[in-house]
Amino acid sequence: MKIAIIGGGYVGLVSAACFAEFGVSVMVAETDPARLDRLRRGEIPIYEPGLDPLVERNRAAGRLGFTGRIEEAIAGAEAVFIAVGTPSRRGGGHADLSYVFAAAEQVLAALDHPTVLVTKSTVPVGTGRRLAALAAARRPDLAIDVASNPEFLREGSAIGDFMRPDRVVVGAETERAREVLRALYRPLNLIETPILITGLETAELIKYAANAFLAMKVTFINEMADLCEAVGADVHGVARGMGLDRRIGAKFLHPGPGFGGSCFPKDTLALVRIAQDAGAPSRLIETVVAVNEARKAGMAGRVIAACGGTVRGKTIAVLGLTFKPETDDMRDSPAIPIVSRLVGDGAHVRVYDPQGMAQARMMLPDGVTYCPNALAALEAAEALVVATEWNEFRALDPARLAETMRGRAVIDLRNIFDPATLRAAGFAYHGIGRPGG
Ligand code: NAD
Repeated sequence: MKIAIIGGGYVGLVSAACFAEFGVSVMVAETDPARLDRLRRGEIPIYEPGLDPLVERNRAAGRLGFTGRIEEAIAGAEAVFIAVGTPSRRGGGHADLSYVFAAAEQVLAALDHPTVLVTKSTVPVGTGRRLAALAAARRPDLAIDVASNPEFLREGSAIGDFMRPDRVVVGAETERAREVLRALYRPLNLIETPILITGLETAELIKYAANAFLAMKVTFINEMADLCEAVGADVHGVARGMGLDRRIGAKFLHPGPGFGGSCFPKDTLALVRIAQDAGAPSRLIETVVAVNEARKAGMAGRVIAACGGTVRGKTIAVLGLTFKPETDDMRDSPAIPIVSRLVGDGAHVRVYDPQGMAQARMMLPDGVTYCPNALAALEAAEALVVATEWNEFRALDPARLAETMRGRAVIDLRNIFDPATLRAAGFAYHGIGRPGG
């Protein structure tokens, strides 16, 4: 089978490489000339563990190719996946569908055979129906079926998530669309992955509902962490006690500085707008969005308090900038408002992230010092802020920290350190939702 994927970003590239690994012939269309150039040279423009060898192997086998020309990508394709970005629209939080519809227009203009047009991008409820109307209007001469196949992969473990998903969701209302998608995912039959076939609207909503639920879980445990601090309880004990209840589950109960990333912030906001527009507002998710925004904005306040009420003229080391470990993605990372506020308040901020430095340079304010490693960032720092829980930070030796830093404040927004060990080494340790701060 031959398919096309429009968009060579985190989702497009991973999906393309994994489908190719399943034995499918995949062409990726990418409009960003710099990204396309790198892909064609065999370079991977994003950091995703395991992706380089997978792309290389399938390119070498002739099953995976990259092009800037839509007509080349879709030639002979039985399915065309749209995997372009759907960021928040400026102002309101609605999903910006301009990339999706621009891609669809290009595909429809270039098609010369019937196909299944599949949205892999996260798109608001009703988008599939609009795309079907567009296809019928633009190409009455061709049978074009529209399907929804939302993607649930997580950056950092994207290949495992794609190859061994908990489920595959397919919104398809014609036998041909169901057949093509079933055939594409057939290798997953071996591991008995449930393939849930629904209507278009249901598939589109499953994606938003799942992300909003997880974002709500994170926000819930963050609020519990604040309560733990106020009453002297330990949030990790609370999370464990809750998570052992199989009705609740242990995942997404880790407290931190508020959720960020390329999906939760924009998808919760988009769901709020979808629900409002449909006349069935979601007060719960509206609150999750507001609580999370306030939390992210308030995190710098914790650093300032730990530094005695002001950071003016002080050197602060921030370790970890990406929204989570094992990715280079900085979109909506909690580190952005933290670093911005500290710089705005007159601190000298020294930062290090194992993979996110290039993106950070485009997103953080001027005046930040970018350091080649964690110890370099810590030089003469009054305070250390852990903003992302990369494994390499867990291994930092308290004695080396003490030698390298000038001050003794540690603001561990991911609870990666053992409070007792750091306190014994003379540090003023501030975690999230743990007894004693
Ligand atoms: P991304 O920004 O990394 O990638 C999108 C790519 O599409 C870019 O490289 C862009 O240049 C390209 N593009 C845009 N218009 C194009 C066109 N007309 N033709 C060809 N290429 C075009 O985005 P992403 O993180 O991969 O997300 C894509 C979609 O998948 C979004 O809707 C997102 O919500 C959803 N999603 C993302 C994740 C994730 O973890 N990143 C997980 C699940 C779902």
